[in-house]
Amino acid sequence: MSQNLSDAKKISVTGGKGGTGKTLIAVNLAVYYAQLGYKVLLIDSDVENPNSNILLGKSLTDEDVKKTQIDMFQPIFSTDKCTKCGKCRDACYRHAILQFPDQFPSLMEPMCSGCTICQRVCPTDAISSGKRSIGSRYFMNNVYDNLDLLVGELNPGEAISVLIVENLIEQSIELHKNFCYDIIITDTAPGAHCDVEKALSLADLTLCVTEPTPFGEHDLKRILRLIQLSGQNAEIILNRSNLTDYKEPILKVASDFNIKILGEIPIDNIVIEDYAKGTPFVLDSREFPAKQAFLSILTNVKKKLKLEVI
Ligand code: SF4
Ligand code: SF4
Repeated sequence: MSQNLSDAKKISVTGGKGGTGKTLIAVNLAVYYAQLGYKVLLIDSDVENPNSNILLGKSLTDEDVKKTQIDMFQPIFSTDKCTKCGKCRDACYRHAILQFPDQFPSLMEPMCSGCTICQRVCPTDAISSGKRSIGSRYFMNNVYDNLDLLVGELNPGEAISVLIVENLIEQSIELHKNFCYDIIITDTAPGAHCDVEKALSLADLTLCVTEPTPFGEHDLKRILRLIQLSGQNAEIILNRSNLTDYKEPILKVASDFNIKILGEIPIDNIVIEDYAKGTPFVLDSREFPAKQAFLSILTNVKKKLKLEVI
């Protein structure tokens, strides 16, 4: 899939742990590059808790937001054609099909992943294609000048979030055909699970946001292991770097994984003020330490990605 986006620079912003400032950094990165004149798509793939739109002052219910429902395949069993052979039940790796002896199969919906294997193994063509809504995607064109936003949201109670992430990736390829993005930034979910792995699969560069705490250290190791397995090109951003004096263990993790710390951002009251107002701090006209540190990180990212000067 990434081949279809090969002429755009792709950055993923991730972090093993929630609450490290990952979304704040992804949003400010996107706004800053858009302001420089690059055409940017920001994808919010934290589908269980998307909130980048809030940081950009947009509501998912605004009139100009294009909402599309995302459905997944769900088997429908035909009692006319079914011979009760049990092959669909045996083939279902998620054990989502319940079938007692001499009975027709039935589906336990929440366990179904929509993989279609049951339909493919049925010898009598007794399984037709139904669908179930599992979430939505939202597209906001020009949320700021040169910046489009694509947000995925999983319906409450649904478990197959990776299908929403896959849908966002497919949609970003379609959008790129129309809008020819220079940069595509993906804000991933926290953690080191398959949603995150899928979102990272697009990236030319992955930025791992962490903080100097034992939790930050623990979860940084987890995400770096995932990155190591997938062979991604990654760097670390140490956010709230003066929160504690627990910086050495983070530097040690970076060194153990042979991954560089791209920069450190100190705690700054102005960032908190802007956050509360829903304003990207990079647009704040004042000079303050966090902004200076962030701008120097952005310069490094630009160099690493060899972004053309606009
Ligand atoms: S679609 Fe896949 S997960 Fe769902 S019932 Fe069929 S085999 Fe099982
Ligand atoms: S595989 Fe087809 S025929 Fe066999 S039990 Fe399932 S639905 Fe019925």
